[in-house]
Amino acid sequence: MNVLISGAGIAGPCFAYWLKHHGFEPTIVERAPRLRTGGYIIDFWGAGFDVAERMGLLPQILEKGYQIKELRQVDRSGKRVSGFAINVFHRITGGRFTSLPRSELAASIYRALGDRVETIFDDSIRKIEDRGSTIQVRFERGPSRTFDLVVGADGLHSQVRQLVFGEERRFERYLGLKVAAFAVAGYRPRDELVYTIHTEVGQQIGRFSMRDDRTMFLFVFKDPCGDLPGDVAGQKALLRERFSGSGWECPKILEALEDADSLYLDRVSQIHMDRWMQGRVALVGDAAFCMSLLGGQGSALAMAAAYILAGELKQANGNHEAAFAQYQERLRRFIAGKQKAAVRFAPFFAPRSRLGIFFRNQVMKLMGIPFIAKRDVGHELADSIDLPEY
Ligand SMILES: Cc1cc2nc3c(=O)[nH]c(=O)nc-3n(C[C@H](O)[C@H](O)[C@H](O)COP(=O)(O)OP(=O)(O)OC[C@H]3O[C@@H](n4cnc5c(N)ncnc54)[C@H](O)[C@@H]3O)c2cc1C
Repeated sequence: MNVLISGAGIAGPCFAYWLKHHGFEPTIVERAPRLRTGGYIIDFWGAGFDVAERMGLLPQILEKGYQIKELRQVDRSGKRVSGFAINVFHRITGGRFTSLPRSELAASIYRALGDRVETIFDDSIRKIEDRGSTIQVRFERGPSRTFDLVVGADGLHSQVRQLVFGEERRFERYLGLKVAAFAVAGYRPRDELVYTIHTEVGQQIGRFSMRDDRTMFLFVFKDPCGDLPGDVAGQKALLRERFSGSGWECPKILEALEDADSLYLDRVSQIHMDRWMQGRVALVGDAAFCMSLLGGQGSALAMAAAYILAGELKQANGNHEAAFAQYQERLRRFIAGKQKAAVRFAPFFAPRSRLGIFFRNQVMKLMGIPFIAKRDVGHELADSIDLPEY
């Protein structure tokens, strides 16, 4: 069975890996000219960690990862006002927790494909025609081709979803926040293995010192308007407008932003759909059920979903209807719970008032106490899902 996968992020290559493992013939089409580099740091644990282990990826993921020691909240003058030791998460997850650039995780998964999977870079699907027993796909650049199945693993703004299921606004739930990230070399000061954040009403900025003298910055801010600037200059202007009056190192960080050659900026949104499949087309990862950065687990769940979708196709001997139905059945409630939990974290990133900041700082202090951390976030960290052996 030939399966076309749109997107070489986290879910796409992971799905391709397991399809190949089960004897299917995947092809990946990726809009970018090459694998993306840079971007933001993600926390990685749970079901996705288990899938990575089954792929033999843990040694390289842990090597690329950072064992962050502390989450530190500072005030306008840079003084520590709250925080906690991250090793509490390591303890709760039995050491199965790391933080690494999203692009490094994506690259590790992609490398696991070796040269066994055809990847078409710098192209995108323009049209999908389900002909009942096959699917005819027209590309933006390359010639049309026929496949047995098409799977959209093309992220929050999925093109496959748009073409087959309908317009993005029908499924996107904008959470009223925007997020931006960039990295530069040579920034000072550095705090090794400390994730430093400065929070003001409605916004937060974070800094993390990485290897090779690079520093990553993450901005999260409230914005009732969901429109996004069309180019990098507009994105930088929006960040300057929102953060120029902020304290701590913000003026310096905004100066560093001017030299950043790539910048990520997007809405913080979730995707809610009744069905992740239609005919011979299915969605996986953010394309199907984006939970947003607030959940802190989108990559891991994208991997778990990719693993289950491929496994169900094997289990059903390629009967896509049965496999797609089983895939959604296994994940639906679990994902819905994660999406709900994610929304509750919004005040952590963008508290509504000074009082909100005060309370959040107290909660962060309590997180340093293992018993309380386990009681309050232990169930969020544990994934109540079985990963079947296929
Ligand atoms: C700031 C931030 C912090 C986050 N923190 C965490 C965290 O701590 N832990 C965690 O697990 N998750 C985190 N996430 C979420 C995580 O990054 C996503 O859930 C994850 O990347 C989803 O993987 P995906 O493969 O579904 O989509 P993506 O990783 O978005 O990959 C989609 C791929 O499809 C490609 N594509 C897009 N359009 C097309 C097209 N038309 N044709 C072909 N290809 C296309 C893209 O170029 C990309 O390569 C965070 C997200 C953000 C924004």
